[in-house]
Amino acid sequence: MTFEDFDLDGGVLDSIESMGYKSPTPIQEQAIPVILAGHDLIACAQTGTGKTAAFVLPLLDKILQTPSGGINTLILVPTRELAMQIDQQIEAMSYFVDVSSMAVYGGGSGANWNQQKQALSKGADIIIATPGRLIAQMQMGGLDFSYLETLVLDEADRMLDMGFYEDLIRIISQLPKERQTLCFSATMPPKIRQLTAQILRNPVQINIAISKPATGIKQLAYLAFDQQKLALTASILKEGDYKSVIIFSSTKEKVKKLERELQRIGIAAKAFHSDLEQEAREQLMYAFKAKRVSVLVGTDVLSRGIDVEGIELVLNYDVPPDPEDYVHRIGRTARAAKTGTAITFINELDQREFSFIEKLIGRSIEKMPLPIELGPAPEYHPQKRPPNGPTQKKNRKFKKPSK
Ligand code: AMP
Repeated sequence: MTFEDFDLDGGVLDSIESMGYKSPTPIQEQAIPVILAGHDLIACAQTGTGKTAAFVLPLLDKILQTPSGGINTLILVPTRELAMQIDQQIEAMSYFVDVSSMAVYGGGSGANWNQQKQALSKGADIIIATPGRLIAQMQMGGLDFSYLETLVLDEADRMLDMGFYEDLIRIISQLPKERQTLCFSATMPPKIRQLTAQILRNPVQINIAISKPATGIKQLAYLAFDQQKLALTASILKEGDYKSVIIFSSTKEKVKKLERELQRIGIAAKAFHSDLEQEAREQLMYAFKAKRVSVLVGTDVLSRGIDVEGIELVLNYDVPPDPEDYVHRIGRTARAAKTGTAITFINELDQREFSFIEKLIGRSIEKMPLPIELGPAPEYHPQKRPPNGPTQKKNRKFKKPSK
């Protein structure tokens, strides 16, 4: 199948060609015709599957067919990084056509707030927003959704995990009832079903590769005590000569500490966390994309939707607290059919938790021997319950989605 088969606008097809997309991914194959036909949609798909283009491409085509004269499409997302990234993707995909978009998200300076307010009053065809900031802007008035044709909820499960349910309902109550609604979510817990039952009409359902990481990812693990992890990281980075690496840890505090420890042993790592000013976060992400920073350390916030080409290694410094987060973390590498490596460190307390990940992805992950100079690794007893529960549980940042 090719993109020509969808009968999309010629300018949109030109953008697809210039972006180097040869053929649609499975989610695109299934979702694009449904969206073009005007149906509501529930799509179970993770980042890395090409889901952004799956809704942006047909929506661009629809806006070009029938411009609505005001804000046509609202895309709600959990984080400002995802809002910025989708905005950038829309910019690329609409390069040859006349469609405007803007991102509305929290953080940043007062100037940022005013800029967003001004831009909003002028309007844009597509607005990508985080719920909290959008409500704040809506309260200030001057936002006219009466021309809205389409609402997209992206990473809906994460929005609910982050406590945005009430905000979503509040926003949606102020949108026209006659509209097309598309809901994308990596998981489908009951609360997503409940939400979609409320706001979608006769939706078509699409299910893409539930919790299976892309096949191009080489997955490995090391059994290691916490005190062995730093030296092990140094050894892996040296051996692999990686140019672009993300290291995940479970909490902001651990991320900051790890940045200091890595720098102390001569690895120029940079920490990405919510205490950084908006501008610093943007600059850091930009430097990472441009490969001027080669090692980024972050929490699971970073694992959602960050789209950086050519990440060669994802290193889980600890086992992610939620098995679904593992899939999201390692999905940062091997984007859209490229290859990459994902390595996880498993200490003596997280072995059972790691076995749940293996169960979720349906395969066992190879455990590599520690370099001899690091001494003996913990013994492997995945069935054994740790004395006080897994080490990460108490640090769980978001509520575990109910399955
Ligand atoms: P997403 O799941 O939207 O985060 O997209 C993951 C990555 O796949 C992004 O880097 C996209 O640019 C890329 N991508 C999306 N669709 C295609 C396609 N049809 N062919 C090749 N790459 C794609």
